[in-house]
Amino acid sequence: MRRQRLARIVATLGPATSSPDKIEALFRAGVDVFRLNFSHGTHDDHRARVETIRALEQKTQRAIAILMDLQGPKLRLGAISDGKATLKRGERFRLDLDPSPGSSVRAPLPHREIFEAVVDGADLLIDDGNVRLKVVEHGKDFAVTEVITGGVISDRKGVNVPGLVLPISPLTEKDRRDLTFGLDLGVDYVGLSFVQRPEDIAEARKLIAGRAAVLAKLEKPAAIERLDEIVELCDALMVARGDLGVEMPPEDVPGLQKRILRVCRRFGKPVIVATQMLESMVRLPAPTRAEASDVATAVYDGADAVMLSAETASGQFPIEAVDMMDRIIKKVEHDPLYRRILDTDHYDPEATAADAITAAARQVAHTIDAAAIVTFTTTGSTALRAARERPSVPILCLTPRLQTARRMALVWGTHAVVTPEVRNFQEVVDQATDTSRREEFTTAGDKIVLTAGAPLGTPGATNVLRIAWIN
Ligand code: PGA
Ligand code: MN
Repeated sequence: MRRQRLARIVATLGPATSSPDKIEALFRAGVDVFRLNFSHGTHDDHRARVETIRALEQKTQRAIAILMDLQGPKLRLGAISDGKATLKRGERFRLDLDPSPGSSVRAPLPHREIFEAVVDGADLLIDDGNVRLKVVEHGKDFAVTEVITGGVISDRKGVNVPGLVLPISPLTEKDRRDLTFGLDLGVDYVGLSFVQRPEDIAEARKLIAGRAAVLAKLEKPAAIERLDEIVELCDALMVARGDLGVEMPPEDVPGLQKRILRVCRRFGKPVIVATQMLESMVRLPAPTRAEASDVATAVYDGADAVMLSAETASGQFPIEAVDMMDRIIKKVEHDPLYRRILDTDHYDPEATAADAITAAARQVAHTIDAAAIVTFTTTGSTALRAARERPSVPILCLTPRLQTARRMALVWGTHAVVTPEVRNFQEVVDQATDTSRREEFTTAGDKIVLTAGAPLGTPGATNVLRIAWIN
């Protein structure tokens, strides 16, 4: 089964979409990557979803990627007496480590690292920025703030400290337990929340030890300051606009989104644009015009994937949301302007054999009007380089590794198929032509451009480009 589009769709599973029927309907409507949000649900819930997805993979013979999204070090207030309290603008409000329930003049904030890192004048945001505080005085276990924007605070509400780099691990105790569980289930990507520094990626990588790809969620200003280093170190990225738009003013998010997409494309790393893309479809069967435009903009900017969160996890119209996203993406990809924009933003190949070959494959495919570029790849790295070229034809990725095929489900323009190891060059050509026909990329008379590495099966050895005809 072949998708008639290049950009990918990520959908979050939740209470609205946990039955095998719903998951299959989401897949058929266009989902390429399923996201399991470990901020919600039990391990049993997630295990059942993974089993359903893997059974669906068998049934449809399509590799599907699973992204486990770790909660990360989300900061929260402690308890408030009677559950909530009202803060008034201009008044003082104290935060400290005392666990006794809070009120309208003080509350527990059980995170010692915040008090250690905070400076006078720093902003503290509660409940996605609905309440805004400014630190006027602090010690090693407290901070006195002035209320800048008043409002209601309640038990365990989220806290953001935008300006600070906190001396905390990117993985909490809960994350570590979830990670062990998810890796044993065989997830393909691990999403790290609230990444602050390149060292955070290195720390996670050590624990993950190659068992899954590492995806950094960009939602902290500190991470944006070291964007290039972070992009270089991880396997994939997410523009996590929910928290990013709390930590930074909303007017900064669109420009940042564009900048992040360009850096990711330059490095050839798959990138997801996430959060509130079709938000009104949580309650309504159609999106706003602004939402349709938002999805289209991400695609015009060359994002690998666009994501649905509450729309599919808990919304009333999950299938309709995927269908709508699918239609918006296809519309953009049929616009001649889309190709012009991609070509204008094209990045030069790096000085490697693999880049030289994939850049040439793009040129040749365009010149001879080939039906597809076929890449033979073990780790997926050649397919990623081919996708970085953003060619005008789809990329068919043949790999002996199921793990690689699954990871490729997130990558722009790439359709991955698991095929047996090839032993000689005739098998390379036969496998490329047979698979391209079987997967509905070609019919008799079509041409394909194929890339492979000799000696065959050596990872990273891509050095052959060849044109083949389909009989
Ligand atoms: P979340 O991440 O949904 O896990 O918070 C995405 C975002 O912040 O946009
Ligand atoms: Mn987030």
